[in-house]
Amino acid sequence: RELTVELGERSYPIYIGEGVLDEAGNLFTERGISKKSPLMIITDANVAERHLGHLAEVLTSAGFTVVTAVVPAGESSKSLTELERLIGIALEHGLDRKSAIVALGGGVVGDLAGFVAASFMRGIKFVQVPTTILAHDSSVGGKVAVNHPLAKNIIGAFHQPELVLYDLKTLQTLPEREVKAGLSEVVKHGLIWDASFVTWCDENADKLTALDPDALGYALYKGCSVKAAVVSKDERENDLRAILNLGHTIGHALEAVAGYGELLHGEAIAIGMVGAARLAVRLGASEEVYTVTKHVLQRVGLPVRLPAHLATDEIMRAMMHDKKFQEGTMVFIVPTAIGVVEINKSVSTSLIREIVEQLKQEAI
Ligand code: NAD
Ligand code: ZN
Repeated sequence: RELTVELGERSYPIYIGEGVLDEAGNLFTERGISKKSPLMIITDANVAERHLGHLAEVLTSAGFTVVTAVVPAGESSKSLTELERLIGIALEHGLDRKSAIVALGGGVVGDLAGFVAASFMRGIKFVQVPTTILAHDSSVGGKVAVNHPLAKNIIGAFHQPELVLYDLKTLQTLPEREVKAGLSEVVKHGLIWDASFVTWCDENADKLTALDPDALGYALYKGCSVKAAVVSKDERENDLRAILNLGHTIGHALEAVAGYGELLHGEAIAIGMVGAARLAVRLGASEEVYTVTKHVLQRVGLPVRLPAHLATDEIMRAMMHDKKFQEGTMVFIVPTAIGVVEINKSVSTSLIREIVEQLKQEAI
């Protein structure tokens, strides 16, 4: 499957399928990636062990000069320390303005390698090769960043890739928990944009968690399509793009309070989406918004109850630090119906606090 992210002269293709990495040589050349300058594949230790050899070999046989750099797996690699180290490797191996960076991995590698590409020599080309389900989200749209000890994704840029190569074969080695966490963002794309896709996810949940290639290929295609449509309309998050943050206001706070690792990003936003649905009902939406949201998330094996040991005060404090807390009011993405969301800029913090408390009692 193929689709295009429409961004004028910065438009780029996304290829999704089994074995698309075998075509990397031609696809890179079509997109103007130079063979005269070395390119650098950035990946993490888990992905390096499983998929780096294959991609490096495909590109080397196609005539590219390949440099590889491996970072430790995990969120802590999205740091200025790793950025500096990777730029050191790039310089030592003679990367130049015509070089490209290839991000082979999940969202951590995509965000980090993308920011290397955005900042090295004021910006060089880059290619996203997502290897997690979650990365269907992070690899499309051009937001790249590293973290600061005080805030996630706070040092970043908009830097669109030249292409996205999504090989379903690489997903077969994903741990089960990462599969489910990634499906959270897939469901999110249905919830914000396409009610019939939410129904489809419900009906195909077992196939998705079993990594059935047909179901997975379709789900990732749909997820990427929604992301691409939203980004095409609002690349720089002036307004519409904010709808992609459904579940993220609460979700980010949970990640921060729980400490990265206890809750995966997708798990945290699953709980956050249930919270947003509860909020929607309190603001007048039909009860169905809540029941359907919760049901489909549970069908793909995601948590819906907020761990009771996370202190409500700390969660509230973490939410206030979030970038989406603007001008004294809390911005919330509220699902008004399945497949439809609105940006509500004046949700009271006391109502959010109530919702957080309710999420700790969520029946499972
Ligand atoms: P991740 O990159 O850490 O990958 C999850 C785990 O799976 C890691 O341990 C990784 O080593 C392992 N892994 C990756 N591919 C594998 C494979 N094929 N086989 C076996 N193991 C594999 O995390 P993620 O969930 O992909 O991404 C989360 C990150 O994405 C967060 O930092 C988040 O901020 C970012 N994100 C960015 C955007 C954006 O628009 N830029 C959007 C959503 C999320
Ligand atoms: Zn997310």
